[in-house]
Amino acid sequence: MATRENKLYKGIVYRLTPIKEKDAMVSCIGQDGLFSFFARGVMNPTSSDFAACSVLSQSEFILNVSTQDALRLKEGTLIKNYRQEPNYSVAMASQGMLEALCKALSPEDASAFYPYVEKGFACIDEGKDPLTVLAIFLAKLLIVSGYGPTLDQCAECGKKSDIVAFSPSSGGLLCRECASELGIEKSPVELLKAIRAVFLVPLDKIGSFSISGAMILPLLSTLMVMVEESTGVLLKGVASLLKY
Ligand SMILES: [Zn+2]
Repeated sequence: MATRENKLYKGIVYRLTPIKEKDAMVSCIGQDGLFSFFARGVMNPTSSDFAACSVLSQSEFILNVSTQDALRLKEGTLIKNYRQEPNYSVAMASQGMLEALCKALSPEDASAFYPYVEKGFACIDEGKDPLTVLAIFLAKLLIVSGYGPTLDQCAECGKKSDIVAFSPSSGGLLCRECASELGIEKSPVELLKAIRAVFLVPLDKIGSFSISGAMILPLLSTLMVMVEESTGVLLKGVASLLKY
């Protein structure tokens, strides 16, 4: 007889993988990193665990741990669901965040990144500008993954003044001389400010500012290129958002 023990987990559901008709593997991110478990019957809307196991639910789960280290849901309790009423930018931002979580976050960075996941979805839920939150989310994901750019000096020569451009392939800001040597176009001052803002904002200040309409799409596009160049992952959902 296998020894079985129940453990309490808390996290945000970011993916549901249906198995057969009504069962699913539920993938979550929590304080201690990623975890996933098997949940019987949970695709059925009448299941008592349906809400707790829906994507973007933050829930507590009592999970049964078998000797094979496989986790099975015993009981789920919904704390909060971050899925919003249909609103184009909110839906796209949430989808972009989920896509980045599924594809670009490495499991060993999950625990360090969790506070940004919680804060990001909470800010969207509170009605903060969703595209700014998405931009911060991508910036912090890059930092946590070890791909944060150089923002206090020229990434090529180390010069602190006369910064005129940002280049994902150089890994940061560029001074006038290096930008012209590399044939990289000057970036608008507003864009350079926005890049600094989303990378440097402390966790508790996320939601305290929004990036202006004219700068948000160039900013997201820069961040998407950075994610692609550093992790090899193309965020298709974010890319489709940029077409509008
Ligand atoms: Zn330089």
